[in-house]
Amino acid sequence: MSDLPTCRLARWSDLDAWAATIAGKVHAAGHPPDAIVGLTRGGWIPARLVADHLGVKRLLALQTAHWGVTATRDGHAALTERLSASLEGANVLVVDDITDTGESLALAVEHVRSLGRPARLETATCLHITHSKFVPTYYAEEVPADRWVWVVFPWTYWEDLRTLAAKALPEGKDAGGVAQILRDRCRLTVPPADVEQALRATSASTAQ
Ligand code: AMP
Repeated sequence: MSDLPTCRLARWSDLDAWAATIAGKVHAAGHPPDAIVGLTRGGWIPARLVADHLGVKRLLALQTAHWGVTATRDGHAALTERLSASLEGANVLVVDDITDTGESLALAVEHVRSLGRPARLETATCLHITHSKFVPTYYAEEVPADRWVWVVFPWTYWEDLRTLAAKALPEGKDAGGVAQILRDRCRLTVPPADVEQALRATSASTAQ
C-alpha cells in the first residue's frame, strides 16, 4: 500500500482564511479584477469566495483535468471545459485551489490569452507547492516540495475517502481497521462511521 499518500485535511475555516489572504494581497497590489475565472473543479469554490471578498460579479468557469483519482495523475493536464466568452480588455484573475505540477494553471492562462488579450491576467491559489512549474501571482500558503501532501479539501472529502478507504481495505479488513491505517499512514483522522459510508458507496458502485 505504498500508494497511500500523506494527507492534510483542509477545513472550511482554512478556506475562509486562504480566500481572505488572497483578496488581501490582490487589494494591496491595487489590481482589482473585473472578472474572475474559477478553474474547476478545485478552484470553483475558492474563486467564488475571492469574488465575494473583492466584490467581483463576473465569475466564469474553466475546467482542466489530469489527476484522475486521489493523488494519482492521469497524464498531462487537458482542457475539458472552455470559456464561452472572450476576456479581451478585462482585468482577469484565474483562481485555483492548489498549484502542484502547475500544468492546469499554465493551461488555463494560455486558454484565456488565446481568446483575446486581457488588459491584465493574474492568477491565485490557496496553496502553492514549490516544485510547481507555474508560480501564481498570489497564493495564501506555500508548501515546500519536500513536504508534499495530498490536500483533502471539503469538496473532495468523500471522493478522497472512497479512494483511500478502498486501497486500505484489503489490509484494514473493516471500517475501524481502515480508519486506523488512514490515521497511521496518511495522517488522516476521520470518523470510522465516515469510512464505513465511503466503503459502502464504493461497494455499491462496483456492484453495478
Ligand atoms: P496541477 O498539478 O497543479 O495541475 O493541479 C491540478 C489540480 O489537481 C489542482 O487544482 C487540484 O484540484 C488537484 N491537485 C493537484 N495536486 C494536489 C494536491 N497535492 N492535493 C490536493 N489536490 C491536488
